Amino acid sequence: MRSEAAIMGTNINVELWHEDEECGEEAAVAVIEEMHRIDHLMSTYKPESELSRINRDAAISPVAAGHELVGLIQDALALSELTEGAFDITYASVGYMYDYRQRRRPDVAEIDEKLPAVDYRHVVVDPQAGTISFKATGVRIDLGGIAKGYAVEQGVEILRARGVQHAIVTAGGDSRILGDRRGRPWVVGVRDPRNRGKIVARIPLVDEAISTSGDYERYFEEDGVRYHHIINPSTGKSAGAVRSVTIVGPEATRTDGLSTSVFVLGVHAGMELVNRLPDVEAVIVDKDGQLFYSSGFETGT
Ligand code: AMP
Ligand code: MG
Repeated sequence: MRSEAAIMGTNINVELWHEDEECGEEAAVAVIEEMHRIDHLMSTYKPESELSRINRDAAISPVAAGHELVGLIQDALALSELTEGAFDITYASVGYMYDYRQRRRPDVAEIDEKLPAVDYRHVVVDPQAGTISFKATGVRIDLGGIAKGYAVEQGVEILRARGVQHAIVTAGGDSRILGDRRGRPWVVGVRDPRNRGKIVARIPLVDEAISTSGDYERYFEEDGVRYHHIINPSTGKSAGAVRSVTIVGPEATRTDGLSTSVFVLGVHAGMELVNRLPDVEAVIVDKDGQLFYSSGFETGT
């Protein structure tokens, strides 16, 4: 069965097999509810969300956060270390000034003013106390780079607990696959970044996660420049080296975070990182539309 919804500003899709149709439907509903719960926890648009409270008060004094958010922020900071700052949830200190629907972007002076607040080292987690604090003023965090991956991972966890063995849960560019497609692999397409509806690669998957970050998801163009939602933390501007990055790996929070990271790093540094990590593979479409595959894909594994 299939179930769809729109949450976190993106399309959610659940496809699963269950011998009992009613149980299958209930399981899909539980997944959608879980997505709503995560959205409420991490939304930067909802002033009462835990994340909004952190952004409002953490520069003044430590803010109590639930273990789930504390854990995700720790994961995000570990990813910042791994990627030498390409992944940085404090990108939002500048990133909040972009509005892709309203075609709004900060000017050079606004970026210069806020850019010092972009540094993951400003974020201090106290896991014992369960608090988050910021070491500088003007710091804002946003978990948009890993939240959807986390959400689909949680969704699959719910299905597994209900006895489902074959499923795919998707939130925008992030999918987590459970089992196979009843005897065959699930096949997920890598979209052509400049040709809606066209596919440039097909990736067969069993029990894995896949995430794509693209410059076509949220953007506007002005004088031939594309302003999109993946921000290079060192410049405060949209990262320009590639058009899309697809990461395959065992766990969706990780593939989601890494797809955003490798997008910022570009082909050379990005592939170097992926080829160092034993558990993930990548397909990159660069700014000229050329495809690059990581070493594990090349050898056909
Ligand atoms: P994704 O589509 O998974 O690549 O995520 C893009 C989202 O990640 C954006 O909408 C932002 O919320 C967030 N983001 C943008 N730039 C960064 C960055 N450099 N590090 C971490 N998160 C980012
Ligand atoms: Mg991502």
